[in-house]
Amino acid sequence: QAHLDAIQALNPRLNAFITVTAEKALEAARASDKRRADGLAGKLEGIPLAIKDLFCTAGTRTTAASRILGEFTPPYESTVTSNLLRDGAVFLGKVNLDEFAMGSSNATSAYGEVENPWQRSNDDGVRLVPGGSSGGSAAAVAARLALGATATDTGGSIRQPAAFCGIAGIKPTYGRCSRWGVVAFASSLDTPGPVARTVEDCAILLESMSGHDPKDSTSANLPVPDFAAACARGVKGLRIGVPKEYRLEGMPDEIEALWQQGLEWLRAEGAEIVEISLPHTKYALPTYYIVAPAEASSNLARYDGVRYGARVDGQDLKDLYERTRAAGFGAEVKRRIMIGTYVLSAGYYDAYYLKAQKVRALIKRDFDEAFTKVDAILTPATPSAAFPAGEKQDDPVAMYLNDVFTVTANLAGIPGMTVPAGFDRHGLPLGLQVLGRDFDEETVFAVGTVVE
Ligand code: GLN
Repeated sequence: QAHLDAIQALNPRLNAFITVTAEKALEAARASDKRRADGLAGKLEGIPLAIKDLFCTAGTRTTAASRILGEFTPPYESTVTSNLLRDGAVFLGKVNLDEFAMGSSNATSAYGEVENPWQRSNDDGVRLVPGGSSGGSAAAVAARLALGATATDTGGSIRQPAAFCGIAGIKPTYGRCSRWGVVAFASSLDTPGPVARTVEDCAILLESMSGHDPKDSTSANLPVPDFAAACARGVKGLRIGVPKEYRLEGMPDEIEALWQQGLEWLRAEGAEIVEISLPHTKYALPTYYIVAPAEASSNLARYDGVRYGARVDGQDLKDLYERTRAAGFGAEVKRRIMIGTYVLSAGYYDAYYLKAQKVRALIKRDFDEAFTKVDAILTPATPSAAFPAGEKQDDPVAMYLNDVFTVTANLAGIPGMTVPAGFDRHGLPLGLQVLGRDFDEETVFAVGTVVE
């Protein structure tokens, strides 16, 4: 009830929730109280969570922040949310995102922008973006509207909004969390994961969300470690890599200073700092912005006005498809579909898509090589703090540059975590990113706990 009250008070300003399921939440809370009284409490018993509106929730509208899915109520529950319910979590509702998770500012949502709960200390009244695509998840957690939230990360959508809102968030290894029942954006990159106030809270949530799922053929059949226990491991004897390619020209001094500070904290706890090279880093953004739209154009072909959600009638079937898609998709989604179909089309496939896949393999190889020398890597999470709403909106390339530190982990499949670590000169939160080996989230949590 306290969280529902907070949502009622603050959501009109923040617009973090698209759908609030107050009745269901209270009913679930009562059932949870009863399980606790009966001595049957699960690991997340009674914990109120917000669910990114990209996860299918049985009987609750799931929009992907798109008009085209506006009236879609799934008859089934995603595996990740089923796992959370199994452990006793209570869902408060569905939170806002960029349309189909495409964006870095939550401005492409058909349900309106989300406001970052943080403001600059000089109180200039400027509204800041919460980051994207999981902007609703991050804003809801930062504003104390939920104790944690589900999110997804295709190119940074967990880590960038977590950094902009001063919270923690982990993109686990690709395959750690099932994608079943999560609306697809770019299937070889999409990774569900949690955002929460602390590294340890993320560990607890991730443990519940993870696990093999026969319904997702890319789900890893591996045991789920005790992530919360890993938080207390310390970093003594660990080697932490500092990739020189992540030292960007023009990056604010505070970010560079915070990075050095993070390395100092790790050194003080007994880690060894090692300079490393990830030579193909400069190709990561162009590679991502070919692979992700290519897969998106294929995945989004299913929204034809026949099978799901909104339909605009037409004179014949083709006309119906065209009218439905013209009215149902926003500008950024259309841009991605056009780029994606172009790079996959005969004559351009080899030059763009196939080339991007080859470069992707080189980026992965850079990390494989680095992880023979180090146990984890520390970088900034984002090249800036949260920026004002409206900025970069009419410049897609400037928007894409936000993802410079995050897309590499998706291309390589490795785990990456944003840890809230400091503030800029305006008092806005800044995050550092910890990258780890495939399926070694435990080391990421251990390092993150020291940096936090
Ligand atoms: N900002 C990136 C994009 O727009 C990443 C989005 C995401 O991770 N879902 O594609």
